Amino acid sequence: MNEFPSGRPVVLRGGTVLPMNGARPAVADVLVEGDRIAAVGPELPVPDGAAEIDATGGIVMPGMIDTHRHMWQTALRGYGADWTLTQYFVWFYLEHGKLFRPEDIHAGNVLAAIEALDAGVTTVVDWSHGLQSADHADAAVDALESVPGRYVLAYGNIQAPPAEWTAAPEFRDFVRRRITGGDLLGFQLAFDVLGDPAFPEKAAFEVARDIGVAVTTHAGVWGATSDEGIRLMYDHGFMTPETVYVHAASLSADSYQRIAATGGSISVSTESEQSAGQGYPPTWAIRTHGIPVSLSMDTSVWWSGDLFSAMRATLGADRSRMHLEAHARAETVTHCSLRADQVVEWATRGGARALGRDDLGTLEPGRKADLVLIKNDHSPVSFPLLNPYGHVAFQAQRGDVHTVIVDGRVVKHEHRLLGVDLAAARRDVERTIDHLRSTMGEETWVNGMNPDIPETKILDNPYTYTDYRSSATHGHPRRG
Ligand SMILES: [Zn+2]
Repeated sequence: MNEFPSGRPVVLRGGTVLPMNGARPAVADVLVEGDRIAAVGPELPVPDGAAEIDATGGIVMPGMIDTHRHMWQTALRGYGADWTLTQYFVWFYLEHGKLFRPEDIHAGNVLAAIEALDAGVTTVVDWSHGLQSADHADAAVDALESVPGRYVLAYGNIQAPPAEWTAAPEFRDFVRRRITGGDLLGFQLAFDVLGDPAFPEKAAFEVARDIGVAVTTHAGVWGATSDEGIRLMYDHGFMTPETVYVHAASLSADSYQRIAATGGSISVSTESEQSAGQGYPPTWAIRTHGIPVSLSMDTSVWWSGDLFSAMRATLGADRSRMHLEAHARAETVTHCSLRADQVVEWATRGGARALGRDDLGTLEPGRKADLVLIKNDHSPVSFPLLNPYGHVAFQAQRGDVHTVIVDGRVVKHEHRLLGVDLAAARRDVERTIDHLRSTMGEETWVNGMNPDIPETKILDNPYTYTDYRSSATHGHPRRG
């Protein structure tokens, strides 16, 4: 089946429903009418002509939300599997990132968007920091509008200072033309704060305030951003409830307190932090500050674009840290602090909260109909279904995503994406690969994928718009 009747109500019958609103999981039906969830309950009466989806034996949960994904980089899936963060910075920021043309941004974004939908990720923040021109930005939005998911374009440009690109008339023109308040495309500004006391990012924050959009920023990234950036933001009044701090993995308690006090949230990319070196995945540390958490996968240059992996890695990293800390005190952890239901909450409602979207992230009447059915009758891992949160976090994977609905529209059914041209996406990505490979030359291409072991140059930070260097980004860990 490769089509689904559009414009009709849809009812998912008899699945285990995770409402993510505090109510317990229960076997129930979910009725979708228009772009909304109309009802949740047992044996629901439905309008004539409603399409029925058999959800028995499966799990129905809100669509997952990724609050930080560099979608353009999906064109290079897996290329940097053995990179460190330094090698990533050198490759993208200093050497080859500027080779990406508008059509390359488009190719990466389309593939990333399709990949997200396939895995039940219905909302993605496209942390789009390869937008060297308005043409690149138009290409990014064209791509997002061509795939039926929900996106937030987080506009960034690693090739120019934030104060410069946010002041450019073509940027303002782009915002006026393309960011029109539609429900399926949100907007943020994406840039980092390096800690230079001259605060060269200040004017970019003022632009964000002026046009009324949130800022998302890589904060607490070992070797790049530190407590000094947080203090500058705080002192100038730019830490707001809408601000999303990505990673926040090498910050002091003082910075966490400032984030907590100003109501912002942290986007944790556990797989990234574990492998690239931003700092230890911080959930174990930020829990005590009560800071809201969302999950993200960062970039497919290394990692999987599904949030099952993010949930699993986050549970593992958090528990690993608790055990290690306890063993260092000659103690034993007898009860897990981080539970499976918590990471499922972070992957759904946590993302909605970070984006200021009360209408997403929970399954209850009146909310937007962004939802996922996890069900795979051909899989020995689909039963017994005893602990639904544990099942989602530790057992399920993207191949088990049976049905995905975004804004009331069925975009995946019976494990097949609907209305998506995967062959075209593949052709475009292959063109991008050909372009990059032929432009940089075969040796550079091969060496980029197989970095030397172990010597690399020490890099204070990958940005070149300030000469600022700090011991804070290369000193001792200052966890408070
Ligand atoms: Zn990132």
